[in-house]
Amino acid sequence: MKLCSFHLPLAPAKDDSAEKLGVGFPLSHGILRGETVHEIAGDLLGTRTETGRVWPLSHVRLASPVVPSKIVCIGRNYPEHAAELGNAVPQEPLIFLKPPTSVIGPEEAIHLPSISEHVDFEGELAVVIGRRCFHPNEDIRAFIAGYTCLNDVTARDLQKRDVAQFTRAKCFDTFCPIGPVIETEFDLAAARIETRVNGQIRQQGHPAEMLFSVDVIIRWVTQVMTLIPGDVIALGTPPGVGALRAGDLVEVEVTGIGVLRNSVLPALDTPV
Ligand code: MG
Repeated sequence: MKLCSFHLPLAPAKDDSAEKLGVGFPLSHGILRGETVHEIAGDLLGTRTETGRVWPLSHVRLASPVVPSKIVCIGRNYPEHAAELGNAVPQEPLIFLKPPTSVIGPEEAIHLPSISEHVDFEGELAVVIGRRCFHPNEDIRAFIAGYTCLNDVTARDLQKRDVAQFTRAKCFDTFCPIGPVIETEFDLAAARIETRVNGQIRQQGHPAEMLFSVDVIIRWVTQVMTLIPGDVIALGTPPGVGALRAGDLVEVEVTGIGVLRNSVLPALDTPV
């Protein structure tokens, strides 16, 4: 099942009812079935019921499917990616955070910060937490709502300048596209992760290449912090990371989930 969050129609329809225009409508949640979005009431990650209202996908604007309290990222979880940046393979999961303010949805723009001259894409598979989790002693799958795509956008020059501190490089507004949906019946074994820039394939990977499994990672993270529903763990990026430039279109696709597509624009503080 593909869970999504969306804003109601922005484009005017022939019928100018408020519902068709989506004026003043808050964020809605739904289930994506093929090319239609079925609205739900209740909790997207918990008890939910369908309202019976349905829209064509082309008439809504998808948002990030979650509003996480935190995004935990795993660094260097693919050996070939560690090697391409000249890093050793970590002996234990390397974790860092991105703030909720870095999150954007599908089709929103990543803004290149004016204080960086080298911003990289990092296409990643991400796991979405569905149940409060701290020192779990049961099957970890009970805490997983599903999986989504995530782009761990990184100001690589600032990351190098700040040595072991990732905060500045990873935390700019718009540096965490998430979506387009949360797949609740995700087949980890069959999945492939692919990142494209302007249609050209730049990254390809398979979760089987991950150094640390989802099970190990969730147990590791929850030794430190409580994960709550909607929290996201980005599972690391395959090799092939590279720079983004204003005007680029970057796509992260994971088999069975869909395509997370974002444009790249100049800094938010750039005069236009
Ligand atoms: Mg990353």
